[in-house]
Amino acid sequence: MPDTIRVRFAPSPTGMFHVGGARSALFNWAVARQQADGKFVLRIEDTDEARNRPEWVSGILSALSAIHINESDPAFEGPYFQSHNTAGQREATIRLYREGKAYYCDCTREELVKRTGSQHLGYDGFCRDRGLEYEEGRALRFRTPDTGVTVVADVVRGATEFPNNAIEDFVIARGNGNPVFVLANAVDDIREGITHVIRGEEHLSNTPKQQLLWEAFGAEPPVWAHLPVIVNEKRQKLSKRRDKVALEDYLAEGYLPDTLTNYLMLLGWGPGDDVEIRPYAELEKLFRLEDVNKSSAFFDVKKLAAFNGEYIRALPLEGFIRACHRWLEAPHAPWAPGQYDEAKFRAVAELAQTRIAVLSEITKYVDWLFLDGAPHDEASWAKAMKAGARDILVSTGTRWAAGEWTAEALKEGLEAAAAEHGLKLGKAQAPVRVAVTGRTVGLPLFESVEVLGREQTLDRIDTAVGKLGAE
Ligand code: GLU
Repeated sequence: MPDTIRVRFAPSPTGMFHVGGARSALFNWAVARQQADGKFVLRIEDTDEARNRPEWVSGILSALSAIHINESDPAFEGPYFQSHNTAGQREATIRLYREGKAYYCDCTREELVKRTGSQHLGYDGFCRDRGLEYEEGRALRFRTPDTGVTVVADVVRGATEFPNNAIEDFVIARGNGNPVFVLANAVDDIREGITHVIRGEEHLSNTPKQQLLWEAFGAEPPVWAHLPVIVNEKRQKLSKRRDKVALEDYLAEGYLPDTLTNYLMLLGWGPGDDVEIRPYAELEKLFRLEDVNKSSAFFDVKKLAAFNGEYIRALPLEGFIRACHRWLEAPHAPWAPGQYDEAKFRAVAELAQTRIAVLSEITKYVDWLFLDGAPHDEASWAKAMKAGARDILVSTGTRWAAGEWTAEALKEGLEAAAAEHGLKLGKAQAPVRVAVTGRTVGLPLFESVEVLGREQTLDRIDTAVGKLGAE
């Protein structure tokens, strides 16, 4: 094993940060940080012109910092840009040509299909010994050794042997001289002194080719580790067309950065003791590349939400209040800015903290405090406002109007109204809850009503009574 570990994370900018990329980044980060002078190189694979947007790079950096990977950390190196080394990559292809390890080829796809009789067979070596020189339009192909085997030793998947004669003479530079992905990736890795390539399993098919390139350049191939695919509940590979995959979307919905970091670290790996929820610093120490699973990792959104609920409950109250602010203000809040009352929110914050799993849910737990009148939720109304609802509302309203305004007294008032109509407290609570808060579920009723205050509560009860009378 090389002395100083140098890993890399090599995203192709796409305008969003895929959770699979975040998982790869975290595993790389842990490996780098476990060694005192280990390095994590960030290399932006931006050779595709359309992917050269500066804001996408800042998006990558801010997503990384959300999951504990900070540019200011001594383990962090870069970012480097693949596009800045185009000359080096071209030079490398020409070197292989000069050394007889690559040759120019002018075969068209049609010709190849005609010769091999198939769309799917690899290149047949037609131009191997034709001695073609470079001309616009001629691709450069790597001359794969005729004999021997390439053994890819993967920490996660074990050693796999690829007979060299089964690896086609693959293209390393296109007809315009531009190096292709497998070449650029290997050249940059060598130049950056990468010792461990830890990346998604989708790159496995490139690996024997890349290893041959490392060897052709006289470099010692890296330690490979291909991380298992991440799948949804139908066991389909997560896809941006079908699934929510952007880390930014989870953050925007109110998943805490610590939750995401913790959860992503467990996609394909777990600490031996099964204690899943634990701080990043601990996970980083416990992580072992050797213990990563081969089988696909299920991205379980329900489990992620449960984790987030735990993280939310572990926040100090002030931290929770701060974290909620974003959703209590425009444009997220459904009330006009002037209607928000911090003191009222504070009065119910602790009750909400124990109930929500995702921060964006906060508005629906407290909107009734800041909107004019109870929010209208058709399903809740239909469920709670059955026969007898009007009587319970009238009788509760009368008692509350005359009583003290404390949660305890309010409860006693409703209990008395329930008894008067021969109802259990739970049954009697439903119409009152919907009349005041708009929904059948929410924060504890009496504490909520106490915070809302006498005037508004009684108004809302009157409004509901009026509505029921008119129905
Ligand atoms: N740029 C490649 C990607 O985003 C990663 C290549 C690699 O990690 O080797 O999929």
